[in-house]
Amino acid sequence: MVLLPARRGTAVRVKAGDVIRVVNTHGSQVVDTWAFVEGTDEFMSMEHTRVCLRKLSPSVGDGLFSNRRRLLLTLTADDTDGGHDTLCAACDPQRYELLGCLEPHDNCTDNLRTAMAQLEVRYRETPCPFNLFMSIRIEPGGVMIWSPPLCKKAGDSVTLRAETDLVLAFSCCPMDVAGNPINGNQPVRDCELLIYDALGRLRDER
Ligand SMILES: [Zn+2]
Repeated sequence: MVLLPARRGTAVRVKAGDVIRVVNTHGSQVVDTWAFVEGTDEFMSMEHTRVCLRKLSPSVGDGLFSNRRRLLLTLTADDTDGGHDTLCAACDPQRYELLGCLEPHDNCTDNLRTAMAQLEVRYRETPCPFNLFMSIRIEPGGVMIWSPPLCKKAGDSVTLRAETDLVLAFSCCPMDVAGNPINGNQPVRDCELLIYDALGRLRDER
């Protein structure tokens, strides 16, 4: 098991065929998720995924595609009813400044940078994340409503299969600004990652 610590980022290398289960341990936490093809400028792209799928959010059986329209991951299981956000940029220092935070605030963009630096993986910029468990309701007229997370209960998970070798990165989003319900109006909390190889054996380490 790999802990995804509250407010922090984590990056792992996975192989083609690995199965990655992201567990929402407490059922209230958004997990920003990225995938990169190491040594290239190719990354999981929400813009390209939406076009490939012709929908706003992948369902079980759907792929997640790169900025070169290549299949990188498949969503193989989901305890929620789906609808994970693909629209919102990762939070960053400016986002919190604009929300009125007077002090520096943990943020997913910095978390990605720190996590990728720990693996010494370079990337050019922060792609739009696949925001697991994050619910943005779209109202008539296209108005976006930030809503509580999609989990039905603690321990709900989303499972992805790597279709190629990847570096995956995750951030337990530290959004805790009053009035923003994306983390269920709960404290920012840990999640967990379970990684199985193609033979179904659980990997214990990064
Ligand atoms: Zn965030």
